[in-house]
Amino acid sequence: MSSHTLLEELVEIARPFASYGKVANYIPALSDQNPDDLAICIYSIDNESFYAGDHLKKFTLQSISKVIALALVLMDNGEEEVFSKVGMEPTGDPFNSIAKLETHKPSKPLNPMINAGALAVTNMIKGNTGMDKWERLIEFISHLTGENVTYNEDVAYSELQTANLNRSLCYFMKQHGVITGNVEDLLVLYTKQCAVEMNCVDLAKIGAVFANDGWDAESGKQLISRDVARICKTFMVTCGMYNNSGEFAIKVGIPAKSGVSGGIMGSVPGRCGIGIFGPALDEVGNSLAGVKLLEGLSAKYSWSIF
Ligand code: GLU
Repeated sequence: MSSHTLLEELVEIARPFASYGKVANYIPALSDQNPDDLAICIYSIDNESFYAGDHLKKFTLQSISKVIALALVLMDNGEEEVFSKVGMEPTGDPFNSIAKLETHKPSKPLNPMINAGALAVTNMIKGNTGMDKWERLIEFISHLTGENVTYNEDVAYSELQTANLNRSLCYFMKQHGVITGNVEDLLVLYTKQCAVEMNCVDLAKIGAVFANDGWDAESGKQLISRDVARICKTFMVTCGMYNNSGEFAIKVGIPAKSGVSGGIMGSVPGRCGIGIFGPALDEVGNSLAGVKLLEGLSAKYSWSIF
């Protein structure tokens, strides 16, 4: 059986699970997504791609962008500076929780994959103006995909209007010196970052660069340093799938990051990147059918890193 046919089969086995999930609606513009969509691309580190489902359908990265912004900021500022503002430990709390910011000392976010930590990371993107920072980020993402990537203005605007929880995380962190500068400017940058739009082929390509220790075979360039790629993949394992990362590590065992749009980026070290889009989410925020699809794939190809 060809790899394409096998992928189509795995998609059809996973698709019914979408009916148990719900599309995110706390960002109003995301609620228009079709819960039955399911698409996957596998992109090998030497540039072969296999896909199934509607692989050209675009979606926004949401939390998946946190890994990419972290890579840029680590290369910009170095580990010491970044980890003076954000920790390295997983949390059992939801991604948008404020609780540990107050109870955990020192008062910095536990890790860069929760919203508080991601906001602190985005605050460290280098640039003189918000526009400079945005241009550096979108250029970096475009290099990773090899395409001219843009963002979905409606989704960014919709989130900016309703991001009061993220606003409060920012003001709390500003009071404690974790972030600097104007909170509204940071939220504009962060909501654009989350609204960066691509299809699952582009996402799988980025996963392949991480899988290949930061080396991009297509352009023949080291786009991310080896160390930074290693750190990012480690966070994907420990905190990439929200507060279900432990169960996911046992059942799938692939470094992965999901977002509330229903995207999942996987990175199988030394082999391939995986891009999935399936917007019906489980209660913690992971694509329900997407996770089932990864369980099937990992078992079939023995891709667990454990
Ligand atoms: N933009 C979303 C937020 O900050 C991202 C959350 C996610 O995908 O987990 O709420």
